[in-house]
Amino acid sequence: MLWFGNELLDFKLERKRLVERLINEGVLKTEKVIKAMLTIPREEFVLPEYRKYAYIDSPLPILKGQTISAPHMVALMCEVATLDVGHTVLEIGTGSGYHAAVIAEIVAPKKAVNKGHVYTIERIPELAEFARNNLEKTGYSDRVTVIVGDGTLGYPDAAPYDRIIVTAAAPQEPKPLLEQLKIGGKLIIPIGSRYMQYLYIVEKISERQFKRESVIPCVFVPLIGKYGW
Ligand code: SAM
Repeated sequence: MLWFGNELLDFKLERKRLVERLINEGVLKTEKVIKAMLTIPREEFVLPEYRKYAYIDSPLPILKGQTISAPHMVALMCEVATLDVGHTVLEIGTGSGYHAAVIAEIVAPKKAVNKGHVYTIERIPELAEFARNNLEKTGYSDRVTVIVGDGTLGYPDAAPYDRIIVTAAAPQEPKPLLEQLKIGGKLIIPIGSRYMQYLYIVEKISERQFKRESVIPCVFVPLIGKYGW
Protein backbone atom coordinates (compact mmCIF):
# COMPACT_ATOMS: atom_id res chain seq x y z
CA MET A 1 0.00 0.00 0.00
CA LEU A 2 1.23 3.49 -0.83
CA TRP A 3 -0.29 6.97 -0.51
CA PHE A 4 -0.74 8.61 -3.94
CA GLY A 5 -2.04 12.11 -3.24
CA ASN A 6 -5.07 11.43 -1.05
CA GLU A 7 -5.48 7.95 -2.44
CA LEU A 8 -4.09 4.82 -0.80
CA LEU A 9 -2.74 2.58 -3.60
CA ASP A 10 -3.48 -1.11 -3.18
CA PHE A 11 -0.87 -2.74 -5.44
CA LYS A 12 -2.53 -6.16 -5.37
CA LEU A 13 -5.80 -4.66 -6.57
CA GLU A 14 -4.01 -2.55 -9.21
CA ARG A 15 -2.22 -5.68 -10.46
CA LYS A 16 -5.50 -7.61 -10.66
CA ARG A 17 -7.14 -4.76 -12.63
CA LEU A 18 -4.25 -4.60 -15.08
CA VAL A 19 -4.30 -8.38 -15.62
CA GLU A 20 -8.08 -8.27 -16.20
CA ARG A 21 -7.54 -5.55 -18.81
CA LEU A 22 -4.85 -7.58 -20.58
CA ILE A 23 -7.22 -10.58 -20.62
CA ASN A 24 -10.03 -8.44 -22.10
CA GLU A 25 -7.64 -7.02 -24.71
CA GLY A 26 -6.75 -10.58 -25.75
CA VAL A 27 -3.08 -10.28 -24.77
CA LEU A 28 -3.25 -12.68 -21.83
CA LYS A 29 -4.77 -16.07 -22.68
CA THR A 30 -3.01 -18.85 -20.83
CA GLU A 31 -3.71 -19.75 -17.21
CA LYS A 32 -0.01 -20.08 -16.23
CA VAL A 33 0.95 -16.70 -17.74
CA ILE A 34 -2.07 -15.05 -16.08
CA LYS A 35 -1.08 -16.56 -12.72
CA ALA A 36 2.52 -15.37 -13.11
CA MET A 37 1.42 -11.82 -13.98
CA LEU A 38 -0.88 -11.85 -10.93
CA THR A 39 1.94 -13.10 -8.70
CA ILE A 40 4.96 -10.92 -9.54
CA PRO A 41 4.92 -7.53 -7.75
CA ARG A 42 6.07 -5.12 -10.50
CA GLU A 43 6.27 -2.34 -7.89
CA GLU A 44 9.32 -4.15 -6.41
CA PHE A 45 11.19 -3.94 -9.75
CA VAL A 46 10.84 -0.20 -10.45
CA LEU A 47 12.73 2.74 -8.95
CA PRO A 48 11.11 4.08 -5.73
CA GLU A 49 9.91 7.28 -7.47
CA TYR A 50 7.98 5.19 -10.04
CA ARG A 51 6.26 2.74 -7.64
CA LYS A 52 2.97 4.61 -7.94
CA TYR A 53 3.05 4.05 -11.73
CA ALA A 54 3.90 0.32 -11.51
CA TYR A 55 0.52 -0.79 -12.89
CA ILE A 56 0.24 1.70 -15.73
CA ASP A 57 0.70 -0.38 -18.88
CA SER A 58 3.82 1.43 -20.00
CA PRO A 59 7.61 1.04 -19.97
CA LEU A 60 9.24 2.98 -17.09
CA PRO A 61 12.78 4.36 -16.74
CA ILE A 62 15.20 2.28 -14.66
CA LEU A 63 18.94 2.98 -14.27
CA LYS A 64 21.42 4.04 -17.00
CA GLY A 65 18.79 5.23 -19.53
CA GLN A 66 17.20 1.76 -19.80
CA THR A 67 13.57 0.72 -19.25
CA ILE A 68 11.46 -1.97 -17.63
CA SER A 69 9.21 -3.21 -20.48
CA ALA A 70 5.45 -2.51 -20.51
CA PRO A 71 3.39 -5.26 -18.82
CA HIS A 72 1.50 -6.03 -22.07
CA MET A 73 4.83 -6.71 -23.85
CA VAL A 74 6.05 -8.99 -21.03
CA ALA A 75 2.70 -10.83 -21.12
CA LEU A 76 2.71 -11.13 -24.93
CA MET A 77 6.30 -12.40 -25.09
CA CYS A 78 5.55 -15.03 -22.44
CA GLU A 79 2.38 -16.09 -24.31
CA VAL A 80 4.03 -16.47 -27.72
CA ALA A 81 7.00 -18.29 -26.15
CA THR A 82 4.62 -21.11 -25.02
CA LEU A 83 6.65 -21.51 -21.84
CA ASP A 84 6.22 -24.64 -19.76
CA VAL A 85 7.24 -26.01 -16.36
CA GLY A 86 10.76 -27.45 -16.55
CA HIS A 87 11.97 -25.23 -19.40
CA THR A 88 15.50 -23.85 -19.36
CA VAL A 89 15.21 -20.26 -20.57
CA LEU A 90 17.80 -17.69 -21.55
CA GLU A 91 16.75 -14.03 -21.39
CA ILE A 92 18.90 -11.34 -23.01
CA GLY A 93 18.49 -7.93 -21.33
CA THR A 94 17.83 -8.41 -17.61
CA GLY A 95 17.04 -4.74 -16.92
CA SER A 96 15.06 -4.72 -13.67
CA GLY A 97 14.70 -8.52 -13.44
CA TYR A 98 10.87 -8.28 -13.71
CA HIS A 99 10.47 -10.24 -16.96
CA ALA A 100 12.92 -12.89 -15.69
CA ALA A 101 10.80 -13.28 -12.52
CA VAL A 102 7.60 -13.69 -14.59
CA ILE A 103 9.31 -16.37 -16.71
CA ALA A 104 10.63 -18.11 -13.57
CA GLU A 105 7.14 -18.19 -12.04
CA ILE A 106 5.97 -20.09 -15.15
CA VAL A 107 8.88 -22.50 -15.72
CA ALA A 108 9.86 -23.03 -12.08
CA PRO A 109 6.85 -22.51 -9.81
CA LYS A 110 7.70 -23.12 -6.12
CA LYS A 111 5.81 -26.41 -5.82
CA ALA A 112 7.01 -27.99 -9.10
CA VAL A 113 9.11 -31.14 -8.81
CA ASN A 114 10.72 -30.73 -12.24
CA LYS A 115 11.75 -27.06 -11.93
CA GLY A 116 13.16 -25.17 -14.90
CA HIS A 117 15.62 -22.30 -14.63
CA VAL A 118 16.10 -18.82 -16.06
CA TYR A 119 19.53 -17.51 -17.08
CA THR A 120 19.47 -13.81 -17.84
CA ILE A 121 22.27 -11.65 -19.25
CA GLU A 122 22.71 -7.90 -18.72
CA ARG A 123 25.55 -5.85 -20.23
CA ILE A 124 25.38 -3.02 -17.64
CA PRO A 125 26.81 -4.19 -14.27
CA GLU A 126 24.79 -1.64 -12.19
CA LEU A 127 21.56 -2.98 -13.72
CA ALA A 128 22.58 -6.59 -13.08
CA GLU A 129 23.08 -5.62 -9.42
CA PHE A 130 19.69 -3.80 -9.35
CA ALA A 131 18.01 -6.90 -10.81
CA ARG A 132 19.78 -9.28 -8.39
CA ASN A 133 18.51 -7.21 -5.43
CA ASN A 134 14.96 -7.12 -6.85
CA LEU A 135 14.97 -10.89 -7.46
CA GLU A 136 16.38 -11.55 -3.97
CA LYS A 137 13.76 -9.47 -2.16
CA THR A 138 10.88 -11.06 -4.14
CA GLY A 139 12.15 -14.64 -3.66
CA TYR A 140 13.29 -15.54 -7.19
CA SER A 141 17.08 -15.57 -6.84
CA ASP A 142 17.14 -19.39 -6.56
CA ARG A 143 15.37 -19.76 -9.92
CA VAL A 144 17.04 -16.92 -11.85
CA THR A 145 20.80 -16.58 -12.49
CA VAL A 146 21.91 -13.07 -13.50
CA ILE A 147 25.05 -12.91 -15.66
CA VAL A 148 26.95 -9.76 -16.71
CA GLY A 149 28.10 -9.79 -20.32
CA ASP A 150 27.26 -9.44 -24.00
CA GLY A 151 24.03 -11.40 -24.42
CA THR A 152 24.37 -11.52 -28.21
CA LEU A 153 26.98 -14.24 -27.57
CA GLY A 154 24.45 -16.22 -25.55
CA TYR A 155 25.54 -18.28 -22.54
CA PRO A 156 27.04 -21.59 -23.76
CA ASP A 157 27.58 -22.89 -20.18
CA ALA A 158 23.88 -23.69 -19.71
CA ALA A 159 22.95 -24.36 -23.39
CA PRO A 160 20.94 -25.73 -25.11
CA TYR A 161 17.81 -23.74 -24.21
CA ASP A 162 14.13 -24.51 -24.66
CA ARG A 163 13.45 -20.82 -25.11
CA ILE A 164 15.54 -17.68 -25.66
CA ILE A 165 13.80 -14.35 -25.09
CA VAL A 166 15.52 -11.15 -26.20
CA THR A 167 14.19 -7.95 -24.62
CA ALA A 168 16.21 -5.43 -26.65
CA ALA A 169 16.02 -4.50 -30.35
CA ALA A 170 18.32 -6.48 -32.65
CA PRO A 171 19.39 -5.66 -36.23
CA GLN A 172 19.36 -9.43 -37.02
CA GLU A 173 19.15 -12.83 -35.31
CA PRO A 174 22.41 -13.30 -33.36
CA LYS A 175 23.98 -16.52 -34.69
CA PRO A 176 25.10 -17.84 -31.27
CA LEU A 177 21.50 -17.65 -30.02
CA LEU A 178 20.28 -19.82 -32.93
CA GLU A 179 23.07 -22.30 -32.20
CA GLN A 180 22.24 -22.45 -28.47
CA LEU A 181 18.55 -23.31 -29.03
CA LYS A 182 17.33 -26.90 -28.68
CA ILE A 183 15.72 -28.49 -31.75
CA GLY A 184 12.06 -27.56 -31.30
CA GLY A 185 13.13 -24.54 -29.21
CA LYS A 186 11.96 -20.96 -29.84
CA LEU A 187 13.71 -17.62 -29.99
CA ILE A 188 11.50 -14.59 -29.31
CA ILE A 189 13.20 -11.45 -30.58
CA PRO A 190 12.43 -7.89 -31.75
CA ILE A 191 14.19 -7.31 -35.09
CA GLY A 192 14.35 -4.14 -37.15
CA SER A 193 15.89 -0.67 -37.06
CA ARG A 194 17.05 1.11 -33.91
CA TYR A 195 13.69 2.91 -33.76
CA MET A 196 11.08 0.33 -34.74
CA GLN A 197 11.02 -3.44 -34.88
CA TYR A 198 8.79 -6.46 -35.39
CA LEU A 199 8.56 -9.12 -32.73
CA TYR A 200 9.54 -12.48 -34.25
CA ILE A 201 9.09 -16.07 -33.17
CA VAL A 202 11.93 -18.16 -34.62
CA GLU A 203 11.44 -21.90 -34.19
CA LYS A 204 14.37 -24.28 -34.64
CA ILE A 205 13.10 -27.17 -36.76
CA SER A 206 16.50 -28.84 -37.27
CA GLU A 207 20.17 -27.77 -36.96
CA ARG A 208 19.83 -25.80 -40.21
CA GLN A 209 16.10 -25.15 -40.55
CA PHE A 210 14.20 -22.34 -38.86
CA LYS A 211 10.56 -21.28 -39.12
CA ARG A 212 9.91 -17.55 -38.72
CA GLU A 213 6.72 -15.72 -37.83
CA SER A 214 6.29 -12.00 -37.14
CA VAL A 215 3.84 -11.13 -34.38
CA ILE A 216 3.47 -7.33 -33.99
CA PRO A 217 5.37 -4.07 -34.46
CA CYS A 218 7.19 -2.97 -31.31
CA VAL A 219 9.78 -0.54 -29.95
CA PHE A 220 12.66 -1.67 -27.71
CA VAL A 221 15.94 -0.10 -26.57
CA PRO A 222 18.87 -1.30 -28.74
CA LEU A 223 20.68 -4.60 -28.26
CA ILE A 224 24.32 -3.53 -28.06
CA GLY A 225 27.00 -6.12 -28.72
CA LYS A 226 28.99 -8.23 -31.16
CA TYR A 227 25.86 -9.50 -32.97
CA GLY A 228 23.76 -6.43 -32.08
CA TRP A 229 24.23 -2.71 -32.79
N1 SAM B 1 13.68 -7.44 -19.40
C1 SAM B 1 13.87 -6.18 -18.73
C2 SAM B 1 12.98 -6.02 -17.53
O1 SAM B 1 12.18 -6.92 -17.22
O2 SAM B 1 13.13 -5.00 -16.85
C3 SAM B 1 13.76 -4.99 -19.63
C4 SAM B 1 14.88 -4.96 -20.60
S1 SAM B 1 15.32 -3.40 -21.26
C5 SAM B 1 13.98 -3.09 -22.35
C6 SAM B 1 16.65 -3.96 -22.30
C7 SAM B 1 17.92 -4.30 -21.53
O3 SAM B 1 18.81 -4.93 -22.44
C8 SAM B 1 18.65 -3.11 -20.95
O4 SAM B 1 18.82 -3.29 -19.58
C9 SAM B 1 20.00 -3.14 -21.69
O5 SAM B 1 21.08 -2.69 -20.91
C10 SAM B 1 20.12 -4.60 -22.04
N2 SAM B 1 21.02 -4.94 -23.15
C11 SAM B 1 21.22 -4.30 -24.33
N3 SAM B 1 22.14 -4.96 -25.07
C12 SAM B 1 22.51 -6.05 -24.36
C13 SAM B 1 23.41 -7.14 -24.60
N4 SAM B 1 24.13 -7.26 -25.71
N5 SAM B 1 23.54 -8.07 -23.63
C14 SAM B 1 22.83 -8.00 -22.49
N6 SAM B 1 21.98 -7.00 -22.20
C15 SAM B 1 21.80 -6.04 -23.13
